[in-house]
Amino acid sequence: MKIATTTLQLREPRSVDEALVMMNEDAPLTPVAGCTDVFVTLNFGQQPARRFINLWPLDELRGISEDGEALRIGALTTYTELIRSDVVNRRMPALVAAAREVGGVQIQNRGTLAGNVANGSPAGDSLPVLAVADAVVVLRSVSGERRIPVTEIYTGYRATVIRPDELIVAIEIPRTDGAQWFRKVGTRAAQAISKVVMAAVRGPEPRVAFGSVAATVVRVPRTERALADGATIEEAQRVLAAEITPIDDVRSTAAYRLRVAGNLLGQWWTETV
Ligand SMILES: Cc1cc2nc3c(=O)[nH]c(=O)nc-3n(C[C@H](O)[C@H](O)[C@H](O)COP(=O)(O)OP(=O)(O)OC[C@H]3O[C@@H](n4cnc5c(N)ncnc54)[C@H](O)[C@@H]3O)c2cc1C
Repeated sequence: MKIATTTLQLREPRSVDEALVMMNEDAPLTPVAGCTDVFVTLNFGQQPARRFINLWPLDELRGISEDGEALRIGALTTYTELIRSDVVNRRMPALVAAAREVGGVQIQNRGTLAGNVANGSPAGDSLPVLAVADAVVVLRSVSGERRIPVTEIYTGYRATVIRPDELIVAIEIPRTDGAQWFRKVGTRAAQAISKVVMAAVRGPEPRVAFGSVAATVVRVPRTERALADGATIEEAQRVLAAEITPIDDVRSTAAYRLRVAGNLLGQWWTETV
């Protein structure tokens, strides 16, 4: 059943510092950014929180910049902004490809990169790209900043190490050498959650990550190692089949996901020769 909005509270900070003080002194407050995930949970009566803090007006959390070798993407950066950004197109074409596949235009206009990371769905389209890019999640609280590799953020299904008093303020992506690749397989091209999603970088040390094949987004280090050591793609596909254990759920079956993951690995390897 829908949650009545009259039962909800919304705090409206005017700066990130004020938000962090509120989250520390007036806990618990659940951040809302674009609200595209939160609203769905409210609509389906699945949102346990009743007290929220609105990040959307905090322009300090917007912006894309190059910081030395790193690409810094503000927490509130939307998919539309990623798609339109020259620097993201130049440095992280796989992130642009992922952004283009998220929802439809309305969701791309509202949904944010940090929202995708914090929401922690194993089907989050940006997450395999961030995983192969060795992205770092920048967290801030009143006690200071922590920088956590995106691959270490998740402890289980939708569970993260982000503390209730912390905000993601940015995502930082180091220089990525090698051809980038992204592919989402879903029921249709728009407004569909993935059955399997893969991102990869073909450099001297190949990097591969999958979404929707485990409780969290996963890198596949044994498959990466096999490819780096000169295995054929058929051998690497066999290593991958032993490395991931997808599940049956409403969107797909374990057997289909296993087959598709192997096929995507093969497609990537052939296309990026
Ligand atoms: C119709 C529809 C289609 C969709 N299609 C896709 C799709 O194809 N692919 C996909 O990956 N996703 C999809 N989504 C999910 C959603 O749009 C994305 O996950 C989006 O990136 C969430 O961002 P947001 O800013 O709206 O997050 P919100 O809903 O505002 O927040 C999501 C979660 O992140 C937390 N959070 C947000 N910002 C921060 C922050 N800065 N620091 C700490 N915690 C924070 C919130 O507390 C909440 O738990 C879809 C959603 C809808 C409604």
